[in-house]
Amino acid sequence: MKELIFATHNQNKVEEVKAVFKEHNIKSLADVSYHNEIDETAKTFEGNALLKAKHIYEVFKTPVFADDSGLEVAALDGAPGIYSARYAGAEKNHKKNNAKLLGALAQTTNRKAQFKTVIAYVDANTEICFEGIVKGEIATALSGTGGFGYDPLFIPEGYSETFGALPREIKLKLSHRSRAINALFEHLKYLT
Ligand code: IMP
Repeated sequence: MKELIFATHNQNKVEEVKAVFKEHNIKSLADVSYHNEIDETAKTFEGNALLKAKHIYEVFKTPVFADDSGLEVAALDGAPGIYSARYAGAEKNHKKNNAKLLGALAQTTNRKAQFKTVIAYVDANTEICFEGIVKGEIATALSGTGGFGYDPLFIPEGYSETFGALPREIKLKLSHRSRAINALFEHLKYLT
């Protein structure tokens, strides 16, 4: 199976994606010994995902996909959105981000939110993006130790526990990232 680079330094994402898409030969940036930061300077998920995928394609000339993802909260007009990692400051601290989110929603009963991922795929002939969404709501308190980021606060639609508290397989199956990557792999299958 042909090698495909997943252009991320986030080890949680790499593990999740490798666990779901076992039959694909996915290499992380660590696997290909690429340790430089790639600045996310675009203003959209799509722009940032493409920027990362194109950059890594130029370096390795190997098919590559990159994601940009985040949490969109209805009562906050879609914030933190593309700023999800840095919501509570440049240090990208998940605990502080979650505390800030709980504070921002303290006075509201509308707790609707969604995780969104855009996956960009780049090879010699292609530049294409796929989107994945999982809808849910923000809990009133942190729960569970699984996953990462906002997982201890996000209750997916149809469930009563957070991604942090639900069994890992459920998050892997439902997640925005799995959905977007699934769409990419369906597309690649269709091309071969
Ligand atoms: P990134 O820019 O795609 O790396 O993701 C931005 C931020 O969105 C992460 O640092 C997390 O705070 C949040 N995020 C993205 N995906 C997830 C997820 O699956 N669970 C929890 N938080 C996530």
